[in-house]
Amino acid sequence: MKKTILTGLRINSEFTLGNYLGALLPMVRLANKYSSEFNVNIFVPDLHSIISPVEGDIKSNAINSIKHYLAAGLEVNENIHFYRQSRVPAHAELTWVLNCIASMGEMKRMTQYKEKSNEKDSSNVGIFDYPVLMAADILLYGATFVPVGEDQFQHIELTRNLAERFNNRFGETFVVPVSTKEQVEFMGLKEGIRIRDLSSPEKKMSKSALGENSKILLSDSPEIAVKKIMSATTDSFGEIKFDFKERPGISNLLQIASLVQDRPIEEIIEDWNKKAQYGELKKYVAKAVKNLLTDFQAKLMDYSDDYILRLFAEGENYANRIANAKLNDVYEKVSLR
Ligand code: ATP
Ligand code: MG
Repeated sequence: MKKTILTGLRINSEFTLGNYLGALLPMVRLANKYSSEFNVNIFVPDLHSIISPVEGDIKSNAINSIKHYLAAGLEVNENIHFYRQSRVPAHAELTWVLNCIASMGEMKRMTQYKEKSNEKDSSNVGIFDYPVLMAADILLYGATFVPVGEDQFQHIELTRNLAERFNNRFGETFVVPVSTKEQVEFMGLKEGIRIRDLSSPEKKMSKSALGENSKILLSDSPEIAVKKIMSATTDSFGEIKFDFKERPGISNLLQIASLVQDRPIEEIIEDWNKKAQYGELKKYVAKAVKNLLTDFQAKLMDYSDDYILRLFAEGENYANRIANAKLNDVYEKVSLR
């Protein structure tokens, strides 16, 4: 059987540079490289979107989000399937079954849940449970490879655990995705990508972060993006060094430069190591990001809504077929059918 690569980006608000460098671009590269031998599923996790306040209209955000993959260079072909999660009811149905084998303890350990909810009783149950929905997203299609940023690795491990637990209890049903270490290797990386918040570089850049200057949006005007980079928090060591632990701000800038220009990080470090010109480095990074945004935003205009809706129509047909077959298998295994 053909292996499957699968990914999705929540559409609660505009995508950030972190989403682009950590998830979108790696997925586009993998899809272009492997879509002749693998199935490539690019889905819009619209059900995930409503766990937090949504900016704009989900229906148009969904269309827009697929344009982002195309603008990032994705070459469409018949092995690439685009679909909206809410149009494939099996996602929500499998979530229920998986909820009944997931434990409260393992769910409470999820860092993303802790960060998003502050563990407050008033936070919604969706924030607690969305990693199970994510497991369903992956397991319905037997996805082996799930390229995501480092912040999602814990959820991939949870998915593996749930799949193995189900298989042990009810018999071989799910393909277990490969470990996060192998996911990273598959992406051609040494470690997972975690772009930092520009104002508080000890945190990751998030689209739902509130601070104006903490994130670069792919929709930011290039001039605004330049200003944000010029005001990024660095450190007071007075010497550039790549060290995420001690100097996350400056290391983040070096990493952004490397990924945006597709130049090895070692080369960028060699250029800037031990120099004192923080301002010059910022200008250099700002220029690279400015060029990226200018180019990307122009490409986004190339695709019509109708074209994306046609891709969804085909993809949702395919997705319902695959997902319903797997769901039926699950229902048989737990003796509901
Ligand atoms: P939110 O704050 O709403 O959770 P987010 O920016 O974390 O938004 P998600 O939709 O949760 O975005 O994640 C989409 C993809 O982007 C995932 O694969 C995730 O790992 C990746 N990603 C998110 N933030 C970063 C980041 N700072 N660096 C690298 N990858 C990231
Ligand atoms: Mg997130």
